Amino acid sequence: MALKHKAAWCGSREAGLSDDSVSEFIERMHECGINAVFVHLKGGDGLLYWPSKRFPDAVAPGCDEFDLPAALLRECRKRGMQLHAWLIDFFEGTNGAANQRHPEWSLRNAKNQPTTSEILRGRPVDLTWMCPARRPGYTDQWLVPALEEFAAMYDVDSIHHDYIRYPGDMAPDQFCFCDYCLEQMPIFNGFVSKTYPDEPFYHELYDRAYLEAHWEQSPRVLPRNWHLLDRESKCRFLLEGSFFQGGRYDADYFFYTYRTFWVTEFAREAAAAIRRVKPTMKISAAVFKNPIHSGRFIGQDWRQFAPYVDLCVPMDYRDHYPGSFDVYLNLFEESIESQKFWARDFESLWIGAAINFLFFEEERPLVAAERALEQGDVDAAVRSFAAVSERVRKFSPPVAEAMDSLAAGPAALESALAMLKDFRCQTPVGYYPADKLHRLIDRIEATGVEGISLFCDAHLDEYGLRSALRERFGAN
Ligand SMILES: [Zn+2]
Repeated sequence: MALKHKAAWCGSREAGLSDDSVSEFIERMHECGINAVFVHLKGGDGLLYWPSKRFPDAVAPGCDEFDLPAALLRECRKRGMQLHAWLIDFFEGTNGAANQRHPEWSLRNAKNQPTTSEILRGRPVDLTWMCPARRPGYTDQWLVPALEEFAAMYDVDSIHHDYIRYPGDMAPDQFCFCDYCLEQMPIFNGFVSKTYPDEPFYHELYDRAYLEAHWEQSPRVLPRNWHLLDRESKCRFLLEGSFFQGGRYDADYFFYTYRTFWVTEFAREAAAAIRRVKPTMKISAAVFKNPIHSGRFIGQDWRQFAPYVDLCVPMDYRDHYPGSFDVYLNLFEESIESQKFWARDFESLWIGAAINFLFFEEERPLVAAERALEQGDVDAAVRSFAAVSERVRKFSPPVAEAMDSLAAGPAALESALAMLKDFRCQTPVGYYPADKLHRLIDRIEATGVEGISLFCDAHLDEYGLRSALRERFGAN
């Protein structure tokens, strides 16, 4: 079945800050058959790309003078295209205005340090993630009011949540233990009675075979020495302890429940605020491929979002799957079938796919060869390049020849490195096989879902796929 909605996630800087640049930007997407765009308007940099009256110190440079969303909306409407406002929810660059004003609103680990204290792949994390749970905090004082203001100002086709979750690629189990969460998590989970805080409520009988069978009377879960424990020990208990002293180590179940609750609660509060100011406004969300797994690891059990989100867009990116391209396609299709079930209470389901990750086989050997040459390791460069040398030769014989002549000495190395870099910056159209994109779209169409969203507009140029897409989707 042919796809009805053919969408792409698009950057905001790429659109420029003039009527002409925005018109050209939207026209370029329109030309290749895209009929819906998700444009980045609340940034991962913590900036707002609209002239916000409510948060003027967070407005991106130039967006106070030029009304970017209004211009995007005009250009999309002229062409019968949908415009969705892609808004980053829970992180704020390194130093977003919300974090500057309220550093206490950020996620904290057991040591009370923000996400920027974590090391990821050898480097400090450069994103400050914000706590979804704290009230008053980032969610109710900043994020929801920002979404509400946007919804009141613009008639876009949806408010699009992204990063509606806890961080996942670093320390998935370490957040959040901010002061608020540390105090509220035991209360939320019913680990202690407000009326009888010191009463242990041991069971009077313990008359059943399994200790956990005595759970209904809600014993005090916090250890008796809770008030004496230091911060890190409290956090350790909340993550690694047990509901029953002497029972199974099941405290993490409650830790994860607390996190999924607050992420879903944000979806609920956002929907209430958006629908209050614009009752017909749709809401969409970019989510991870398996809500059971993402519920455990990033607090995103998106099955629970259905009352608060109309359009579900799972990001079925290849880097979220193991194996070869063919293995990816098979697992991808299997995911979509499951997603149709998980998303059955949503109004619609579009499948998100990332363009760049389709081309691991063609791109990674080039990157590896380039790195090896930068380190002067000719043998490693030759070995890496071998995987793509015939393909490169087909599209750019001089680059392949330069790599062949590497053994000739340092000058040959410099020249091969320069040519390789050029090849990567200005890759000839066709080097990245459009066939992969077609096969991906075939699989989506086979599942009968309504739409696709491609990540992202810049990759269409980088991987030379605009004409392939136009051929596939047909000019609008
Ligand atoms: Zn917190």
